[in-house]
Amino acid sequence: MSDKKRKSTSSAAAAGKEPSAKQQKLAPAKKEKKERAEGWLQDLVKQQRTEKKEMKFNQKRLRFITDTKQAKPGSEGVLYWMLRDHRVQDNWALIQAQRLALEENLPLHICVCLFVPKSELSTLRHYSFMLKGLKEVAKECKTLDIQFHLLHGSAGDVLPGFVSDHGLGAVVTDFSPLREPLQWLEDVKKALPKDIPLIQVDAHNIVPCWVASPKLEYAARTIRGKITKLLPEFLTEFPLVEKHPYTATAAAKPVDWDKILASLQVDRSVGEPEWAEPGTNGGMAMLESFIDVRLKLFDTQRNDPNAAALSQLSPWIRFGHLSAQRVALQVQHSGKSSGLSVSSFIEELVVRRELTDNFCFYNKKYDCVEGAYEWAQKTLKDHAKDKRPYLYTREQLEKAETHDKLWNGAQNQMVTEGKMHGFLRMYWAKKILEWTSSPEEALSIALYLNDRYELDGQDPNGFVGCMWSICGIHDQGWGERAVFGKIRYMNYKGCLRKFDVEEDSRDDVDVPKDLMMLLKRGVNVAPHQAVHVEGSPAKAKHNHQHTWTGQMDTLQANEEVENANYQHGEQKESQCGNQDDQRRTEETLRIAQLIDEPNEKHPTQTSKDGNRELCVQ
Ligand SMILES: Cc1cc2nc3c(=O)[nH]c(=O)nc-3n(C[C@H](O)[C@H](O)[C@H](O)COP(=O)(O)OP(=O)(O)OC[C@H]3O[C@@H](n4cnc5c(N)ncnc54)[C@H](O)[C@@H]3O)c2cc1C
Repeated sequence: MSDKKRKSTSSAAAAGKEPSAKQQKLAPAKKEKKERAEGWLQDLVKQQRTEKKEMKFNQKRLRFITDTKQAKPGSEGVLYWMLRDHRVQDNWALIQAQRLALEENLPLHICVCLFVPKSELSTLRHYSFMLKGLKEVAKECKTLDIQFHLLHGSAGDVLPGFVSDHGLGAVVTDFSPLREPLQWLEDVKKALPKDIPLIQVDAHNIVPCWVASPKLEYAARTIRGKITKLLPEFLTEFPLVEKHPYTATAAAKPVDWDKILASLQVDRSVGEPEWAEPGTNGGMAMLESFIDVRLKLFDTQRNDPNAAALSQLSPWIRFGHLSAQRVALQVQHSGKSSGLSVSSFIEELVVRRELTDNFCFYNKKYDCVEGAYEWAQKTLKDHAKDKRPYLYTREQLEKAETHDKLWNGAQNQMVTEGKMHGFLRMYWAKKILEWTSSPEEALSIALYLNDRYELDGQDPNGFVGCMWSICGIHDQGWGERAVFGKIRYMNYKGCLRKFDVEEDSRDDVDVPKDLMMLLKRGVNVAPHQAVHVEGSPAKAKHNHQHTWTGQMDTLQANEEVENANYQHGEQKESQCGNQDDQRRTEETLRIAQLIDEPNEKHPTQTSKDGNRELCVQ
């Protein structure tokens, strides 16, 4: 985080100003107004876990990676290789490892293989969040007599030797559908002694990825029914991970977390955001504030970046500090008064999120244009040579030097705070397609920026989010237009409508305060740096003024031309949007039924803000 940013935050604190619930700037969980005593959620969850501690483990959550299925007789312990889900409780992989260790009367070990690739994506932001979360895991392990080991190196290189040295008899790991972790899994499988079983448990998804569907799903509508049908079986409470009764003969080496963090070869220019406290405790506090303050707004205001309506939980879910299943259980349990918001939230958290694991697991080209559907590849190819209204380099985009204040604001927020609002992410990525020379370049830039700066980046959700925006994944064809072809289009004017800003508003006073904050983040606009394509509609009315009024004039002038050009497509789009809204509403009602909410309360039509059409995937 820049000095400038730190200064402004601390001066606000010095002036005694608490961020309001509506304020756009991301607030740490504890600063939001709550009605119940802080920490009530942790207490409630502890109580629920103790009450349900004998719950069974559903064998469908695991699969054997090796042919060997039995723990090696006469061994010294069982190992949980913690890969994606960095938490102790609510972790099906650790639950399974402990069950196995108890069956065999063996000590229990956890290891994490710390490997930092030399890459622009290896940033302090991500590694600090991860290590601080692991520090909490190690501390909890100590109280439970579970040995926590931090190994240095890639799993294929270091884990098999560790297993042999410690005489371990079985390895349990968790599941990620991404290329690198799958390669590590393969490497470990090859290098493990043949008599040691390697067992994988999907601890990230509520319905295990391979159970939800055995194939690549086409869209949310094709997986939704499959997942919701299985929720009664899988959306259960968790058994408690208890103090382990068998103590290891050799204790794990203590870890000097601060020293490790200080020595990591990561890009330190991408710093730690203030609003997100790493670890399960920080995640639970954010979940608590969501249930208390924001959940009730989720259904109607989740597409409005001005409103504080989202959970903000993605970083903790991404790093496995929080289990999505725990989040779903608590939102259901505590959010009964929040009406349709509960089912809308479950739709995002469960259906949309689990669809992204399905996409990455069954589509090896999950991060390239060739991974898109044929119709999408064809339409992008057909329009590859279309003139772009603006052309920006990766560097210009990274520095938020575009003509579009809203885009710059969103980009700057992502760079400084590590989080962009979900609605703006769609707009942001689609504009990259519009302003770069090819879909391949657009996708690569979007993924680079997303994965380098978003705290929740480098996750299936990010690959699918960018592929959805740029390559039409999980979407359908829309009215054809320049550059986008049949890929769904979004424009600035549409955003102004969504954010409830008067279309012809030219004055600061008319702009909602919070949207203004976002727009102010976009103030480092450098329109002269954009490459204006000869004869493009945008060039005719481009205005180089740096004032707010000047920016709005420019944007609106551009939009008028764009809208005239694209009107035909837009009409078709809204018709399709309505059909999709209807379908989605019906599905949401089905989820609502499943989670035991009275149907009568729910409207049969889309929410009146009509925001749905742009987040239908
Ligand atoms: C271009 C683009 C890039 C994205 N990059 C990422 C990313 O790197 N990491 C990431 O976690 N999400 C990504 N998303 C999906 C989504 O925007 C974020 O998950 C969401 O904004 C996170 O904020 P939240 O936790 O407040 O979400 P909420 O709206 O409160 O939703 C709760 C949870 O549901 C899940 N979720 C919500 N929306 C989606 C979605 N559209 N697809 C899949 N899961 C969803 C997330 O786990 C999220 O934490 C991206 C979307 C787009 C369009």
